[in-house]
Amino acid sequence: MVRETAYYDILGVNTSASPEEIKKAYRKLALKFHPDKNPNEGERFKLISQAYEVLSDPQKRDLYDQGGEQAIKEGGMGGRGFSSPMDIFDMFFGGGGRMNRERRGKNVVHQLSVSLEDMYNGTTRKLELQKKVICEKCNGYGGKKGTLEKCCDCKGQGVKIQVKQIGPGMIQQIQSMCEECQGQGERFSSKDRCKKCNGHKVERKKKILEVHVDKGMKDEQKITFHGEGDQEPGLEPGDVIIVLDQKEHPVFQRHGDNLIMKMEIQLVEALCGFKKTIKTLDNRILLINSSPGKVIKHNDIKCVQNEGMPIHRAPYEKGQLIIQFLVTFPENGWLPKHMLPQLEALLPPREDLMLLDDMEEVDLTEVEHGSRHSHKYRGEAYEAEDEEMPRSSGVQCQTQ
Ligand SMILES: [Zn+2]
Ligand SMILES: [Zn+2]
Repeated sequence: MVRETAYYDILGVNTSASPEEIKKAYRKLALKFHPDKNPNEGERFKLISQAYEVLSDPQKRDLYDQGGEQAIKEGGMGGRGFSSPMDIFDMFFGGGGRMNRERRGKNVVHQLSVSLEDMYNGTTRKLELQKKVICEKCNGYGGKKGTLEKCCDCKGQGVKIQVKQIGPGMIQQIQSMCEECQGQGERFSSKDRCKKCNGHKVERKKKILEVHVDKGMKDEQKITFHGEGDQEPGLEPGDVIIVLDQKEHPVFQRHGDNLIMKMEIQLVEALCGFKKTIKTLDNRILLINSSPGKVIKHNDIKCVQNEGMPIHRAPYEKGQLIIQFLVTFPENGWLPKHMLPQLEALLPPREDLMLLDDMEEVDLTEVEHGSRHSHKYRGEAYEAEDEEMPRSSGVQCQTQ
């Protein structure tokens, strides 16, 4: 059976993605394709939401992995169908929620890209937003008080019905919102309409928000500005929610409050000790020391206490700085052959091997790439077996 992977493809993750990877993928795509920012991508936004709804729930994900979309539609949603993409979005971003949506405007979510240095040292960023504010001139009324009149274009219905001939004896009725009154059914005549907002009741204004990124804040952390969303007459404005998006750092990777880095050392340093420096995220220079006689092996992991990330709201405490050592071996021919016995005398003795007559001596060569797949050509039976293999194993190989 071929596994269905469409939901994974929509989110751009591979089938072995962790719950965190799925969350992260949804966060990025949902913000990008939200109808506020991409009004023409409504269908895409819906698909992203559906994919997330299934893959973020271990039970539904299991079901999907086994039976694809069919299985989800038949039993996975408990007969309820998919949730509305907006509800999923609001739940994910901790938006106002369904409870008080009636009386509140919607929340606006923005992503703010920050460096690891910013999260280490803390910073303030200015973010310029466009927001709708109630027109000051007419206080959100739209025109002169008491002059609202029935829209004559739609006869107060707010909608217009067009009748279209689509074939011999066939007509189609199309209902659309009345543009003259914006679907309100009432409007101001041009002389009574507020000149400032042109009767729209709100105006677009630039607003600058100061976003304080505190020491120790994390990727995906939200900073909420209550009531800074769009204003609409009769509604309490929603919030502006800033989601932090941490840029990759060339040296340090963050894991919780710890920082992880790789450090290359030469074989001589691994065996005979070394001094090395590390530039911290606040530009201090740390000197690390491995005493002579202490051997560091390839992939050994050591750490420096209290040089990781500051803890959010307790920034004088820090996590650990974890260093993974990569030992670089000398190239071929660095030591003339006649010197090798001297080196060997210094190294721990090698194991003796008893040579026997029936041993077959073979050559060591470089690995040929692609030979792994050569079995494919031996017959159909093997190809069929390939199909059975979980897709994830193949994808993993490619990414590693
Ligand atoms: Zn106005
Ligand atoms: Zn109208």
